[in-house]
Amino acid sequence: MLYATHAEVDLSAIRANIEGIREQVGDRTILVAVKADAYGHGAVAVSRMIQATGVADWLGIATVPEALELRAAGITMPMLKLSHCFPGAEMEAAIAADVVTACPSRECADALQAAVEQVGRPARVHLKVDTGMARIGVPAGEAAALAAYVEGLESVSLEGIFTHMPVADTASQDAFTEDQVALFARTVEEVQATLGRPLEHVHAANSGGVLGHSSSWLTLVRPGIMVYGYYPDASTPRTIVLRQAIRWVTRVSFVKRVPAGTTVGYGRTWSADEDRWIATMPVGYADGYNRLLSNRGRVLVGGRSHPIAGRVCMDQTMIDVGPASEPCPVSVGDEAVLLGTSGTQEISTDEMAELLGTITYEVTCDIAKRVERTYR
Ligand code: PLP
Repeated sequence: MLYATHAEVDLSAIRANIEGIREQVGDRTILVAVKADAYGHGAVAVSRMIQATGVADWLGIATVPEALELRAAGITMPMLKLSHCFPGAEMEAAIAADVVTACPSRECADALQAAVEQVGRPARVHLKVDTGMARIGVPAGEAAALAAYVEGLESVSLEGIFTHMPVADTASQDAFTEDQVALFARTVEEVQATLGRPLEHVHAANSGGVLGHSSSWLTLVRPGIMVYGYYPDASTPRTIVLRQAIRWVTRVSFVKRVPAGTTVGYGRTWSADEDRWIATMPVGYADGYNRLLSNRGRVLVGGRSHPIAGRVCMDQTMIDVGPASEPCPVSVGDEAVLLGTSGTQEISTDEMAELLGTITYEVTCDIAKRVERTYR
């Protein structure tokens, strides 16, 4: 390994998390969201594991290049592009790669028909209905008319219908979610009555839905964050035991004794109140190690917790490892754990997200490309 900072991804934890979902939802179709490089875990490796084991049925991506990367890596599983697709090159590439797209409007349906003519193969779509997210999607009351319109297009095949839930993970807003699911169920009924046939894939459930709202499971579920080991919100029911799949580590690159009064790092925001040991690690905000961790975060070395001293730099970060009156507890080359376990200690992604005032999704997505992912 040419760069000490890397992320170890435990594919067996990801597999176990999906198996937990399978146990919960029975024979419903499982689509795993592998968008954003599998939430930072590496979409190719995660998708290869899913395809090889058959633990899930579909993959969810956000961008066409994400889909093309997976196809080039030999992933033949059905894929749904969860977000909007622009007419022209993006749509044509999606159709050519047999990526099912969301259809939220007549304009989109017309553009798909035009793209089909360019590509020479039919487009497969799931109608996207807005029932409370106000992102993309046809208003529920107009869904049946849109479905009839799409059905009338020669080479656009309407195979499914879906919606998305903004607060399915938040216990205090369960009434909103249940109303949303009920509205979606009525909309699906109307659409199917208009078409005179059932749609194969009817879906709404993200992780919050899988964990807390069995009414939203329908024919297919679309978990993301829980697959990687996290409950989407502190209030989400923990109906499935999840295992964090990522461990983010580096090595101590330099150790020095600093006399009392020494300041550390850019801006001189930390100073030693006595003689101290300061260790440096080759990780910084260019690796996705958030600069807001400056003087606030902590790192585990040899099972002991050490606070960050000073500002996180672009490529390096310093930690205060103890008083110089005692032997230095760390050595150059020691493993330094940014996320995950070291001995009996753990820095969870939840802890880091809370410190940063964000969500686990952002913490793992932000781990930069230059941080090599290793798999076990
Ligand atoms: N479905 C759609 C349309 C999404 O945008 C997402 C993620 O944002 C998911 C499913 C997965 O959500 P989660 O990671 O909360 O399970």
